[in-house]
Amino acid sequence: MNARAFFSKTVDFILPPRCAVTGTPVDAPGMISADVWAQMRFIDAPFCRLCGLPFDFLEAEDAEDAENTEDMEMLCGACLDNPPVFDRARSAFVYQGAGRDLILAFKHGDRLHLVRALTQWTMRAGAEILEKTDTLIPVPLHRRRLWQRRYNQSALLARALAEKYPQMIYAPEALRRTRATPPQKGLSRKERQKNMRRAFAVPETAAPAASAAAVLKDKNVTLIDDVFTSGATLNACAAVLKKAGAQNVFALTPARVVLE
Ligand SMILES: [Zn+2]
Repeated sequence: MNARAFFSKTVDFILPPRCAVTGTPVDAPGMISADVWAQMRFIDAPFCRLCGLPFDFLEAEDAEDAENTEDMEMLCGACLDNPPVFDRARSAFVYQGAGRDLILAFKHGDRLHLVRALTQWTMRAGAEILEKTDTLIPVPLHRRRLWQRRYNQSALLARALAEKYPQMIYAPEALRRTRATPPQKGLSRKERQKNMRRAFAVPETAAPAASAAAVLKDKNVTLIDDVFTSGATLNACAAVLKKAGAQNVFALTPARVVLE
């Protein structure tokens, strides 16, 4: 054993694993402290059947009625007004407070061990979607962003999920980001959507296109991202994937922005 390996082992031994959010000692690497756990707002039924928006704002009685009415098409106002391009989206917890801290630690810190907890929560929230999934695709980062951040956090999650479901195809190359952030200023809603779609592409060079067809054509594809914000990115990706032949495009994220 060289000195560095010995030193690293010693440090591991001396320093207990710490919560990625609060820094307090926890039992095992990747765990979060009880305080953070208590503050997380996990998303449970009832929620919008299309985009997964939690209906927490309903009165308790209405919420119970909604849960008891399984056949009811529960849709949020946004989905009623503008049905999303993706077929269904689910998220594990609300992106605020501890949930937001956790995602930021995952995104900007080197807290890669958080991937285990995030994967498990995402599997729980997305059980119904994962049952139908053939192909897993992470939302790509533009290579300039990838260079700055060193890793694509969505790809980490998607790969961890793929390891849990060996029957699925993991296809990180099936979708590319062609522009970092498309300029949206002065564009109408429709133009913005079109503009956003042009930020993504299924690669067209011969070999990858052939493999893209194999992983997309008539397949149920699930997109993986870290946060569901407005749904615009997921919609743009879904449009491109459907154009390339995907049958259904679902979306799964650990966190979800919910405007109160
Ligand atoms: Zn909705």
